[in-house]
Order: sequence, then C-alpha cells, then structure tokens
Amino acid sequence: MSIKTATAHINLNALADNLQHVKAQAPDSKVLAVLKANAYGHGLERIAKALQTNHESVDAFGVARIDEALALRAAGVITPIVLLEGFFDSNELALLAVNNLQTIVHNEQQLAALCDKQLVLSQPLKVWLKVDTGMHRLGINPQEFSHYYQSLKASANVENDIVLMSHLGCADDLTNPVTARQINLFNRITQGIDAERSMANSAGVAAWADSHYQWIRPGLMLYGVSPMQNQNDHSIRPVMTLQSSLIATRKLAKGEYVGYGGAWHSEQNTIIGVVAIGYGDGYPRHAKNGTPVLINGRRVPLVGRVSMDMITVDLGINSQDKVGDIATLWGEGLPVKEIADWATTIPYELLCNITRRVQIAVS
Ligand code: PLP
Repeated sequence: MSIKTATAHINLNALADNLQHVKAQAPDSKVLAVLKANAYGHGLERIAKALQTNHESVDAFGVARIDEALALRAAGVITPIVLLEGFFDSNELALLAVNNLQTIVHNEQQLAALCDKQLVLSQPLKVWLKVDTGMHRLGINPQEFSHYYQSLKASANVENDIVLMSHLGCADDLTNPVTARQINLFNRITQGIDAERSMANSAGVAAWADSHYQWIRPGLMLYGVSPMQNQNDHSIRPVMTLQSSLIATRKLAKGEYVGYGGAWHSEQNTIIGVVAIGYGDGYPRHAKNGTPVLINGRRVPLVGRVSMDMITVDLGINSQDKVGDIATLWGEGLPVKEIADWATTIPYELLCNITRRVQIAVS
C-alpha cells in the first residue's frame, strides 16, 4: 500500500514561462522578482536559483528581511538583492555592504544611519528611496523628498545612482482612481531628476503601463496567479499545485453529521471522502462549506469543518472514488484565487502559509 500525503508540486517550467510573460508586458523594464516569505511559499533558494539560471534571468531579487537575503547569499546566489523594508538596525549596514545587498530607505532613522559621518563601509550601498504616494504604509512624505534625496546624494556611504520608488495600493482594481493619482504624484515628485524609477507590483505590470518605469517588481504573477480582482489570467500558469489523497470513504445517510461540531449534515444519502490535508498543512481553517476540491479531476464540495490533518468532501452517492485517489486542493485546474475567496482571504496568504510538513516535489 502506498498513499501520497500532502505534497506541493512546484513546476519550474511554469515559473520560467510566467517570467517570459511578465517581461513581455513590460519589455523595456528590468525585473526585480519578489521572493519574500519563502518565495510566497514556493521555496526561497529553489525559486531564486531557477530564476537566476533561466537563460533570460531577472535583474534583482526583493526580500523583506535581511535573514532572507543572507540565506540567498549563503546558497551562492549572486544576483543583486534589495531589502524591501530596508534595514532595521544600523549595525546591519556593514553586513549589507559585505554581502552586496541593496536597501530601501523610508524613514528618518535609516537616513540618519546612512548619513552618519562616522560610518565607514567596505563599499557604498545602493539605495532605493521610497516615497509614499498614497498607500500610506511605507515611504517618506512627498514634501520631504528633496531633503532625503539630497542628503543621500551627499553621503559617502551611498552609491550615486539612487533608485526612486513607490508602491501601489489598489492596482488590482481597474476602476479605482487611486492608482492614476499615485502615478501622477510620483511623476510630479520625481520630475526632472535623472534617476531610475520603480512602482509596479504584479497588478501594475498587468494593467498600468504608466507604472512600469525602469524597474518592475512582480511577485504573485511570477507564481502564476492573476493579480487582478475578479479576473483569471490564462497566459500564466500556477507554479504550485497542492495535492493529497483520499484516505477514507464512508456512506452517510440523509441527515447525518460530519466532523467537529457537527457543523454540516447531509441533505441526502451520499458518500463522504476524507482527504489527508488540514490546517496543519496550511489548508485554510476558514474555508467554507462548498469550497471546491478536485478528486480525480472532478470538482466536489468541502463539507464540515477543516481539521488539523484532514478535510471531508461530499463525493456524491454515485462516487467510484477510492482510498489513494488524488485530491487537488489548488493549482493546476483549480485556481488558488478561487479557494482564497471561499476562505475569505487572498492567494498570497494561502501560498505562504504552506507548512513544513508538506512534501515538496519539483519538476
Ligand atoms: N513591491 C513591494 C514593495 C512589495 O511589498 C510587494 C509585495 O507585497 C511587491 C512589490 C510584489 O507584489 P505582488 O506580489 O502583488 O506582485
């Protein structure tokens, strides 16, 4: 007997194809591939190496934390790496210089640390100056732009070529006027400055050509998930397909309950399947009754509560499905976006919540 447990199949050909698609959307821009949170759950080093060795590779990687960047360097990754939240402590600056890491600057503490005349680094750092154009999360106030830019330009610890950047908050919604306002403001603030610029996340790449500038910063789209609200993009393919197996089936009479809390009961006689995956693997605990699961490629609804290690599905009274048959939770044939909607969350969260217990199969 051999039954497969929860496995995330990682398709590196899909990743390469998605990268080509991204490049075709913004042919004049360089690509910073976003790899934070374990490359959105796909494996930090695995994805970095695949993107680095691809014959048309990316120009930089973006991570959130210095540990992610150092892990990439330790694995032999030589592509430029940008810390998308900047450094957290001035003690890290020497480490950044030695490891050839680039940093964004978005607050006064970072500016002061970089402009400290006592600071002597092994080499000046490449800096991306982040301006808040309306998302109001990270980024300096537009009124402070000149002060930051001139101070950084004057610092011996900062490379001369500073990249100007901002982040889009609503680009996934084509009808939202905020995006055009953000792009206009960014143009106004940075007008007349001879520097590279960067604004577009995946949604910017897909839908807002004016946001492309010299650097795009795609994440989600590279992993084969449409960044746009209410829209699937058939020119990209999921890189991760999450599968497990049926480990039990049982007949259920009309009116009988299933799972913890007896939260669901059957309206008719049916057959219930038990799939070996649960919130302990990263399947969302809040997926509602009706969330689709593919059993042998056939859509059936999740029923009852999601447990730590198992979910239950309604196979229907005519089911021929048997123990060992394959269940697909998301990926090829079942967009992760759809599952995210059923669980009242976003695909990003589902992908990066995959736990260590899940096997990885790379093809
Ligand atoms: N740029 C920055 C600064 C980000 O924080 C992120 C991700 O949140 C991205 C780009 C990539 O976004 P997406 O995955 O939507 O393409």
